[in-house]
Amino acid sequence: MALQPAIEVSGLRKRYGEGATAVDALKGVDMVVWPGEVVGLIGPSGSGKSTLLKCLGAVTDPTAGRMALGGQTIFDEGWTIRDLRALRRDKIGFVFQAPYLIPFLDVTDNVALLPMLAGVPNAQARQRALELLTALDVQHRATAKPAQLSGGEQQRVAIARALANRPPVILADEPTAPLDSERALAVVRILNQMARQYQAAIIVVTHDEKIIPTFKRIYHIRDGRTYEEAGEGRPID
Ligand code: ADP
Repeated sequence: MALQPAIEVSGLRKRYGEGATAVDALKGVDMVVWPGEVVGLIGPSGSGKSTLLKCLGAVTDPTAGRMALGGQTIFDEGWTIRDLRALRRDKIGFVFQAPYLIPFLDVTDNVALLPMLAGVPNAQARQRALELLTALDVQHRATAKPAQLSGGEQQRVAIARALANRPPVILADEPTAPLDSERALAVVRILNQMARQYQAAIIVVTHDEKIIPTFKRIYHIRDGRTYEEAGEGRPID
């Protein structure tokens, strides 16, 4: 089978409201991201980044255009796939600026929770969580509670959680904003490694100057339209 793009978006539009007060937040976005790629999404405030991320994350419906994830059509000119909740759970991992870990669950269960909810037997979900924690070098914290971890360790656990259902797509919204240069680059190194290892497509929304030179490919968004650009792809190590 030919390799399918992880994300394929064409002519995506989103209008909020109606009539005289309508706002066209997306005015025809085109985007293709392949498995294993880490792509930057950059734009000024109000340009449509959050709206695009919400559409890509199947959190909101676009008004027009098409979107497919892993070759499966999700939206098509007003038609929307029925079970968006299952789609989000199985196909999309989210990483935010703050880790949002569940304080009363230990690190392993924070990561294992989503696969358990998706029907993976508990022992198998925990085994998968441990594998990811090992790949992210936080396995020694497996039985700790989130509050016992440093900020950087918590962010790595959050990345493990985003990967736990082996989603083809990971959406990271300003994942390095609160981190210093060294830790920010460490997070980007990990995202690149995870993209390679699990063949996930990762979109990183950012305006963090420390990490922008690392992207091989960047989508700029301005006034609801995207422009693709080759990035510097600067080596991280
Ligand atoms: P960014 O994330 O780049 O700051 P947004 O996607 O939040 O941009 O916003 C894009 C445009 O859509 C802005 O003009 C914003 O005011 C408008 N917008 C965003 N959300 C809503 C909403 N729920 N209702 C109406 N307008 C909105």
